[in-house]
Amino acid sequence: MLEARSRAWAEIDEQAIVHNLAEVQKLVGKTKIMGIVKANAYGHGDVACARVLADAGVDFFGVSSVDEALNLRDHGITQDILILGYTPPEHFHYLYEKNLVQSLCSYAYAQKLNDFAGAHHQVIRAHCKVDTGMNRTGVIYQPQEKHMDEILAEYRLPHVHTEGIFSHFPVSDDLQEDSRTFTERQIRLFQEVLNGLQEQGIDPGIRHIQNSYGILNYGDLGMDYCRPGLLWMGVTSDDAIPIRSDPDFIPVLSLYANVSVVKTIQPGMTVSYGRHFTAERPTKVATLSIGYADGLPRLVSNQGWEVLIHGHRCPQIGNICMDQLMVDATEVPDVQEGDTACLVGTQNGQRVTIDEISRKAHTINNETLSALAARVPRMKKRGK
Ligand SMILES: *Cc1c(COP(=O)(O)O)cnc(C)c1O
Repeated sequence: MLEARSRAWAEIDEQAIVHNLAEVQKLVGKTKIMGIVKANAYGHGDVACARVLADAGVDFFGVSSVDEALNLRDHGITQDILILGYTPPEHFHYLYEKNLVQSLCSYAYAQKLNDFAGAHHQVIRAHCKVDTGMNRTGVIYQPQEKHMDEILAEYRLPHVHTEGIFSHFPVSDDLQEDSRTFTERQIRLFQEVLNGLQEQGIDPGIRHIQNSYGILNYGDLGMDYCRPGLLWMGVTSDDAIPIRSDPDFIPVLSLYANVSVVKTIQPGMTVSYGRHFTAERPTKVATLSIGYADGLPRLVSNQGWEVLIHGHRCPQIGNICMDQLMVDATEVPDVQEGDTACLVGTQNGQRVTIDEISRKAHTINNETLSALAARVPRMKKRGK
């Protein structure tokens, strides 16, 4: 891939990562930060971001799969890595070979890991996942169904070293009373499990429960670690969702594309596939070299979503194409081929956000960011 600002590119602001980490730290007190870098760090570039996070003191990373963990190891990341998701049995050997920590998806899964490790005279490092309400992975521990026996049994497996324990919040982003009650109940259930372990003389190890909204809305829970993804990237899922804290985050990712053509069309002329945009006045159309194959959702087409050219907001018009899209640049003086359009970020003091794209696509920033295509080069933002 050409490492150039040639067609479309993302810029990663490494100073912003360091700033955001400090903002997270203010919210969680003494709790340490596990940097979640799954899905290529939500499109930000996992290796480069993990290096910045590690230099800033992050000593634990979270990924979704063994492939992601191996990629970090292959690029010299030596810190602890927790695999949050499922590792298939044929990849179990990587867990001890690469010194990875596996989350225990279920008790049956923990037994399988234990059998494998025993047969290979190895010990596999693990964190116990307690399911306090997500009902995705982990051993169920909820008022209707409490499997404390399985949690205890995981800690007693001879070839699996359960050195941490965690749970996950499904509604920590929602400040409605029933969601708050639910999340607070999860915290109590988690504490109950910790007490249950201690009563049996078992050290639960490293305790962690908060994702980004858990950090924003529930502050310092006195855990050993918290698990932010979005927050170190300087964004939330949706900037319209109210939160209970007032942190000062700087978005890490900016997105740019080149203006390839500028032309003026007359009233009645249409733009792009499907002819969904019709000019009502002489219109200066700028074509940008970025499209849905770069990860921009085609769903946002022709909905008034705006990009910046020379710091002016230009509405996107007509269907977004695979590699290109068109904007109405009538109000921009001097726009010409070779100009840079800003789709996310700041230009001439004006700002456009990833939230604007996500809102038009009826989704959250987590998805929009992680869908950014591999063919878009991630470049380090140049120093000021
Ligand atoms: C993805 C994930 C996180 C990070 O979520 P954010 O909302 O981005 O902070 C934390 N914990 C688990 C288990 C996850 O899967």
